[in-house]
Amino acid sequence: MGAPGSGKGTQAELVARRRSLAHISTGEMLRAAMAAGTVLGRRVKEVVERGDLVDDALMLEMVEARLSEPDARKGFLLDGFPRTVPQAESLLRVLGKDGRTLDMVLVLSVSDAEILKRNLARGRADDTEQTIRYRLEVYRKQTEPVLAYLRAEVPVAEVDGTGAVEEIAGRIDRVLDAAHPA
Ligand code: AMP
Repeated sequence: MGAPGSGKGTQAELVARRRSLAHISTGEMLRAAMAAGTVLGRRVKEVVERGDLVDDALMLEMVEARLSEPDARKGFLLDGFPRTVPQAESLLRVLGKDGRTLDMVLVLSVSDAEILKRNLARGRADDTEQTIRYRLEVYRKQTEPVLAYLRAEVPVAEVDGTGAVEEIAGRIDRVLDAAHPA
């Protein structure tokens, strides 16, 4: 977990590769659907572009399907999901049906000022300053409570998300190695 622009996508990719986990990025899945112009993509476009969250039921359906694929059965890393408390509750319920759970929640901590700077530099289509501020507000309001909810269920580790990509990756590796030796 981490605010939009915290570097979670970059770090998730590195962790997933190193540990042979299925990298499940809901943001990437939605962007792919929008780029391909699928029914789903056209349905979510407006919501994503204004920085709001896509409907919980739709997101859960998408993630549940992905989690049942063979690669994800061997181990997965969720990137950008869950983003609301109902998503988190449903996720644990869905995993529990198969006797699965989350081993750990990793949070990348980055200050608001740094987040703004990074997002503006990133230049994605949904990255205007107004949208960035709005997404940050959505994160504080809807996604931070997820952390409080998950803390009661799963080990949570917070990692300093500032510095060079490799430096941050090193911090994450140390946390994961301590909890789950590769
Ligand atoms: P991300 O790449 O994770 O920052 O996601 C980009 C955008 O996709 C977000 O601003 C949301 O509009 C949408 N999105 C991604 N993941 C979710 C989710 N779990 N729930 C709702 N909307 C999501």
